[in-house]
Amino acid sequence: MVRVMIEKRQFYIDGSWVDPARGNDFKVINPATEEQCGVICLGSAVDTDRAVAAANRSFPDWSSRALEERLELVRKIAAIYESRADEMAAAISLEMGAPIDFAKSRQVPAGLRHIHNFLRAAQQFEFIRPLGPHAPNDRILLQPIGVCGLITPWNWPMNQVTLKVIPALITGCAMVLKPSEIAPLSSLLFAEFIDQAGVPAGVFNLVNGDGAGVGTELSGHVDVQMISFTGSTRAGIAISKNAADSLKRVQLELGGKGANIIFADADADAVKRGTLHCFGNTGQSCNAPSRMLVQSEIYEAAVSCAAGAAQSQAVGLPEQLGRHIGPAVSEAQFDKIQQLIQTGIDEGARLVAGGPGRPMGLNRGYFVRPTVFADVENGMTIASEEIFGPVLSITRFETEDEAIRIANDTPYGLTNYVQSSDAERRKRVAGQLRSGMVEMNGRPRGAGSPFGGMKASGNGREGGIWGIEEFLEVKAVSGWPDE
Ligand code: NAD
Repeated sequence: MVRVMIEKRQFYIDGSWVDPARGNDFKVINPATEEQCGVICLGSAVDTDRAVAAANRSFPDWSSRALEERLELVRKIAAIYESRADEMAAAISLEMGAPIDFAKSRQVPAGLRHIHNFLRAAQQFEFIRPLGPHAPNDRILLQPIGVCGLITPWNWPMNQVTLKVIPALITGCAMVLKPSEIAPLSSLLFAEFIDQAGVPAGVFNLVNGDGAGVGTELSGHVDVQMISFTGSTRAGIAISKNAADSLKRVQLELGGKGANIIFADADADAVKRGTLHCFGNTGQSCNAPSRMLVQSEIYEAAVSCAAGAAQSQAVGLPEQLGRHIGPAVSEAQFDKIQQLIQTGIDEGARLVAGGPGRPMGLNRGYFVRPTVFADVENGMTIASEEIFGPVLSITRFETEDEAIRIANDTPYGLTNYVQSSDAERRKRVAGQLRSGMVEMNGRPRGAGSPFGGMKASGNGREGGIWGIEEFLEVKAVSGWPDE
């Protein structure tokens, strides 16, 4: 078999594809085969500086263009994204192992949906606002913050990239994107879309690199006004510290350890739905409902149902059609998941499905067995650490207050879930959960709803109107002429 090696060493800087200042090859690994499928180059400070300088040059002109002109370019990007969706699905499937049907039906459309939501939000957005009737000659101007460093993870690559690049473009910011070095192919393709759409030179730049290199250079750069970061809490803390000396704004979307509270009066499908949701994208979602809290009356039935759902969860190759889940993204992730499964066993949780090792028939690739632990106590490692794999923990509770206490007893605060047929209870519980999002009874949040967390899950809000606000400075002006 002839294997095709994708060579993508160049960066997109100042409107052109350019060679890195110096060679520093980095292998892109196909997680389903553990073999190299591509090569990129990790940038250096020279490349970062070039990109930041190009962005700064482009900013005055770009930020002063009419909103409609910028929106027209974003519409073009959307059209190109749509017409090249199959290429994008193939890139995502190869670099992070998403099964091809999942890449086509979920990963790629997530990006397109965000673009359209931002376009809708921008049309309603008031960039110049009155202060109030008491101050008729005051205006509040919302203006682009400047040059932004955008640092993204590998797990939902286009979801994350569009949540940053599109509002930055709409607001008139210029930017340097540093995608995950583990899954860079989709972002390199996205840079082609930007180029094809005719975004002016310097407005959008892409430099590949790792956290210690380009990531750190961007977060500490004196000519970058904002970092928008999605990734681990560990990196979020490092970025915040490094950004402090230059006083830049740092917007963080970090990890999660979502609780899914299932009351005895939940709908019949709640446990199965929650289990499969936890396994979606191979458990590699920051908002995965990875802690299932189940009320005593239905506890044992729920444990059997979750175990059954795990046993029915197919795992397979990314290129196979169908609704299975693929491998974990990397050897490091695979090892971490395996280690945490073992820790769950060692700390006395009851393993009811899955366990260590690979699923039957998959002897290479970073494939993990869909795993369910019951009788998990909140003090256990698997209840507190983000596993980022298809591993569900089930914990018993008796009362509403206890469920809320357990759900909130975590450093994280991204998405929590509530399943109950009692409307008053749902309102009470939603109000008391310490998380940026609460999803109830299997209803997804609406288009343009703000995505983000509290506590160790970060401080940012992405998507729709709130996602646009993140890229704006507030300027208060008095003496505005009478209108
Ligand atoms: P990661 O933090 O290792 O890497 C994310 C990005 O940050 C990569 O581009 C990486 O190169 C860069 N990076 C790493 N260290 C850095 C540093 N010190 N300075 C600057 N940049 C640095 O995370 P990951 O493994 O790619 O992604 C998984 C994590 O992302 C999980 O914790 C997950 O929960 C989180 N995540 C959060 C959200 C959200 O919106 N809250 C969404 C998706 C993923």
